[in-house]
Formats: sequence, structure tokens, C-alpha cells
Amino acid sequence: MDTIPKILSKQKTFFKSQKTKDIPYRLSLLKALKQEIVSNEQAIYDALKNDFKKPAFETFISEFGLVISELDLVIKNLKKWAKPKRVKASMLTFPSQDYIYKEPYGNVLIIAPWNYPFLLAIEPLIMAIAAGNTIVLKPSELTQHTSQIITDIVQKTFPETVAISVEGGVETATELLAQKWDYIFFTGSVPVGKIVAKAAAKHLTPVTLELGGKSPCIIDDTVDLKLAARRISWGKFLNAGQTCISADYIIIKSNIKEVFIETLKNEIVKRYGVNPKESPDLPRIINKKNALRIANMLEDSHVVFGGDIDVEDCYIAPTLIDVPDLDSRIMSDEIFGPVLPILTYNTEQDIEDIIWNYEKPLALYVFSNNSSFVDQTIKKYSFGGGAVNDLLIHFGNHRLPFGGIGSSGMGAYHGKTGFDTFSHNKSISKRGNWTDPSVRYAPYKGKLTLLKKMFKYFS
Ligand code: NAD
Repeated sequence: MDTIPKILSKQKTFFKSQKTKDIPYRLSLLKALKQEIVSNEQAIYDALKNDFKKPAFETFISEFGLVISELDLVIKNLKKWAKPKRVKASMLTFPSQDYIYKEPYGNVLIIAPWNYPFLLAIEPLIMAIAAGNTIVLKPSELTQHTSQIITDIVQKTFPETVAISVEGGVETATELLAQKWDYIFFTGSVPVGKIVAKAAAKHLTPVTLELGGKSPCIIDDTVDLKLAARRISWGKFLNAGQTCISADYIIIKSNIKEVFIETLKNEIVKRYGVNPKESPDLPRIINKKNALRIANMLEDSHVVFGGDIDVEDCYIAPTLIDVPDLDSRIMSDEIFGPVLPILTYNTEQDIEDIIWNYEKPLALYVFSNNSSFVDQTIKKYSFGGGAVNDLLIHFGNHRLPFGGIGSSGMGAYHGKTGFDTFSHNKSISKRGNWTDPSVRYAPYKGKLTLLKKMFKYFS
């Protein structure tokens, strides 16, 4: 493989050739990518199983299936999305035909995390290709089997001048970030997000940062608790809780806390049995370091369910924590594991005191049948996105832009928003020549009144 500067230099030259501007060329690449992914379906399941015992069912629902849907969507809509869009002329441009051209940024760097290692590497790649960019993709070093298969797929599908997967850890990422890119798309932690933003700022490179945070889940006493517990047992423990939009903690009306905990315990046992370690459906924590990190978080916590830990096996049981202090370890950082602290509230003020204690989260969930409480909660708090009466599902609708706010990130993607993210809006006004009103030209004497009338008329 070439050195990183050499790879980028070749991609810069190729981008200038204008080849990636050709829509049929982009479509042929996307179709080839789909073909390659489909023919590797089993190998992808195997890779994720090898990396952290992720069950094939979860890989399909949260990675493979979403990638194929995104490819189908873009293959169907690319011509429409990429077409220059005519907009109405304005008084100042009249007579004119005004357009927004979708222009690729150029040379894009994508850095992916380990937690949904296939989805979060390939989905931005799809949209960056669709928008006509060249790409260097760095998958996570922590999921080596998946990263290897990503590299194979990218290598078989694309010329290196269009897209290449460069594997490696911090050192490689640092070298990549030292180059001058036209766009950087990063998914990962808040601290590394800041490093990426700093590197991008050096070259004034635009960035999308898909980061994390502590996402709350509020439950009031109007809900069907059994249904709420069932849905939470799915959304919280999918991927063993290693989901950026997982509910990090619950805030439940205090009068129903005990019943909720009992109901949730039953649901967890139904999903994973009395010994979840033996369940084929519970993935492992990504590595011993992270298992130990979560184990340490449990040390000063009041565990009311679960709590089994085997760091050697990267195993943490689905665990419930009863009313932790806000300054306990479990409430200090994003948990990113199958541990769910349960806090309580009695008044709106209690909820505010908890949520406003943290940075703006990536997600917020509210379980309630009280529509005014739901509406008020959605409007009051600042967060990336979320769901009512469920967890995670907003991620699954390509019509909903996905991204954070504040320290949970900036920018968004999914579906057409993803295509737009990797495209610059180039605004063009094509001026007509059949008339040339004299009002804008000096001498201005006597024209101001007419100008004001025109502004009023056209605004
Ligand atoms: P991470 O920030 O440690 O790593 C992400 C990527 O950055 C990896 O490819 C890694 O090699 C690279 N990296 C690590 N250190 C670096 C450095 N010093 N300089 C440059 N690059 C570096 O994140 P992670 O542990 O892989 O993922 C977990 C985090 O990602 C969680 O905080 C989670 O909330 C967040 N996340 C967010 C989303 C989202 O869509 N918003 C999705 C998944 C994960």
C-alpha cells in the first residue's frame, strides 16, 4: 500500500479528472458495492461474531440490513438527488434562472468507531461515494475481523483512487488527520471528536462529528409498564448496551420505580435467561479494557439486579442500579455497556436538575401516554434526536436526519441528509439578458423611493 500522503495525492488527481462527477459512474460503484456486500453476508456475520460475539440477528437488524436499505435508497434516488434544483428567482436576480448544484466536496476522510463497526464505516462511505467524493476510510482497530472484511470489500469494489480502507489505530488516525482534506466525517467519542475538530480547523475543513453522551430515558406513571420494560430491555441491551443512542439512564416517577424494576428484571430474564453469560444473544464488551472500565463504574453503585462480571471473558451481565448519586462513577461518564441506572423524580424540577447536569445528549427518550408531558419534554430539552415510547427506533427511518448537538456532535446524515452532508450546495444565478432595469445603477439620485417600493413588493 502507498503511504498516506501518496494515497491522498492520487485521489486528488483522480478527483480533478471529473470522473466522480459522472452519475452513471457513481451508480456503477454503488451497485458493485452492494453486490460485494451481499456476497459477503455470512462473512460479515462471522466477523462481528468473532469481534465481540455479536449475534447474526443483531448484525442483520443493526448493521447489514440498514446498509443494504441505504444502498437501495441511494441507487433508486441518486439521479433525482444529484440533479441541479431550480429555485425561484428573487427581485435582485430577476430576470434569472436560479439553481442549486450539488457539488462533491472532493477528498473525504471517514473515521469509524468499533461499536457498530460495519454500519458506521460503510454508511458514510455510501453517501460520500453517492455525492461524488473520493474516500479514505479508517475502520476501528478494535474490531479487527470486521475491519479486515471492510478493507477486502472496499478493495474489491473501488479503484484506490476512489476509495480505500486504511487500517490502523491512533498513530494512523493521527497521520490521516495531519493531511488536508475537503471533508472529515468522524464517529466516535467526545474527547477524540475534539482532536478531530482541532485538526480540521487547521485547514478550515468542514466536519461532521457523530459523538456520544449520557442519553436519558424519562418514564412517567401513565405508561403501560410491561410494554415499556419490554422495549427498554431490547433497546438497552442490544449490542450489550454499546450503542451511542442507548438509554444511558432512566428517570422514572418515584411511585412506580419498584414495580418497574421488578417488571424489567422479568423481561431481562425472558430475553437472556437466568444466566445471561450462556445466552447466545448477548454480545460481549469490545475488550477487557472497556469491561474493566464498566466494572469500575459499578464499584460504588447499588446493584439491584445482575452485576456479574468476568473481565477475562469481556462479560458484563445486564445490570440495574438503584438511584445512584449524580456524582457517582456510573453517573459521571457515558456508560456504553449493559448497565442501567434508575433515578427517580417527583416534579419537573427534579427532571431538569438531572438532565441539565449533563452536556446535551445524543438522544432522549420519553415513555408516557400524556401527550402534553411528551410535547413539553421534547421542546424543553436540547438533544440530537429520540423516540417516544421506545428506544433507538428513530435511527431506522432514513427520512429522519441523525446527528447530535453541542458535545454530542455536529452535522447529520442518513438517507438524503447523508447525500446532502457530503455535497456542497453551489448556488448559481443564470442571468437573463432580455432586460436590464436601470434602478441599481448610479447615479442613484431619485431612485431610492422606487427601490424601497420594489423591496416591499417582492418581499
Ligand atoms: P473513539 O473515539 O475511541 O474511536 C473512534 C475512532 O477514532 C477510531 O477509529 C479510533 O482509531 C480513532 N481514534 C482514537 N483515538 C484517536 C486519536 N487520539 N486521534 C485520532 N483518532 C483516534 O470511539 P470508540 O471507542 O470507537 O466509540 C465509542 C464512542 O463513539 C462512544 O462515545 C459513542 O457514543 C460514540 N459513538 C457515536 C455514534 C454516533 O453516531 N453519534 C455512533 C457510535 C459511537
